[in-house]
Amino acid sequence: QAKQEARGYFRLFDGEQDKRTHARREMLRRLDLAMENKELRLYYQPKVDMPSGRVLGFEALLRWFHPERGMVPPGEFLPVVESSDFIIRLGEWAMREALAQAVSWRRAGLETCISVNIAGRHLQLPDFPERVRHALADVPGARADSLEIEILESSILDDMAHVREVMRACAGMGVRFALDDFGTGYSSLAYLHQLPAATIKIDQFFVRNLFEQREDPAIIQAVVQIAQVFGRELVAEGVEDPEHGMLLVAMGCHIGQGFGIGRPMAAEAVLPWVAGYRARREWTALQGLAWH
Ligand code: C2E
Ligand code: MG
Ligand code: MG
Ligand code: MG
Repeated sequence: QAKQEARGYFRLFDGEQDKRTHARREMLRRLDLAMENKELRLYYQPKVDMPSGRVLGFEALLRWFHPERGMVPPGEFLPVVESSDFIIRLGEWAMREALAQAVSWRRAGLETCISVNIAGRHLQLPDFPERVRHALADVPGARADSLEIEILESSILDDMAHVREVMRACAGMGVRFALDDFGTGYSSLAYLHQLPAATIKIDQFFVRNLFEQREDPAIIQAVVQIAQVFGRELVAEGVEDPEHGMLLVAMGCHIGQGFGIGRPMAAEAVLPWVAGYRARREWTALQGLAWH
């Protein structure tokens, strides 16, 4: 009886597995096509110094313009293909696309840095620095200082020593790194200490709940101090309202990214957005005041 049940269970389990494998394969096939048909595009979200209103850079965020479903956000398909080589092709494409965009903006008078999200599987390739070098060589006029690579802690943990070497090699070329979603993974001070990431991005979870959860201001305060001690640039994600920005500036986190500053936008919208962007008065007024 138990044996039979067990067999039934395994059959059920296999069925589920099959379905998932099938769905994943189907998604990969569809994404290959999407890349070929140029349905994949990068949107750009600004990163600003909140008190001065200076635009410091843009993060490239993937969008899939599906012929039937319209715009599909990356959260709906990237997790399914993260463990496949598609994520590597995507990253290679995104680096070149972003570098070319930076060249084109520079020609139009906007000197800026673009951050590209790179998956752990990609970063962990033994020849990752070579791949970055090739991307820089492939794009005419590309400059290393216009590229920043955003990585998640989860992509480092598996192979800390190797990733550190990869990061050092890229940093040697002038490419910067940012630790994305800081505070949600296994952040440890030891890791941070060993990694040459110039920037820490505090996860939007802590920022968005700034007024709802009692402990979040304390967490942000702690990360501000960590960034100071380690000499890293700190960026707050998820600045949705002016009040978030005010509290962040008052706490010493001056760089922000979020819907309350600028939403991710098509490349064509960026130059007009930059021309029209002004610092918020309430943010400027707080500059230099101390938070207690
Ligand atoms: P991420 O790198 O942490 O990017 C930030 C996400 O937060 C983006 O979502 C952005 O649109 C969203 N966001 C920005 N400001 C606000 C705000 O004020 N409020 C709220 N609620 N959300 C805000 P998106 O574009 O859907 O991307 C989700 C994740 O997908 C990214 O998280 C990143 O991990 C991944 N991703 C996006 N593009 C790429 C890519 O080209 N390659 C790879 N490997 N991953 C990517
Ligand atoms: Mg990111
Ligand atoms: Mg993030
Ligand atoms: Mg994220």
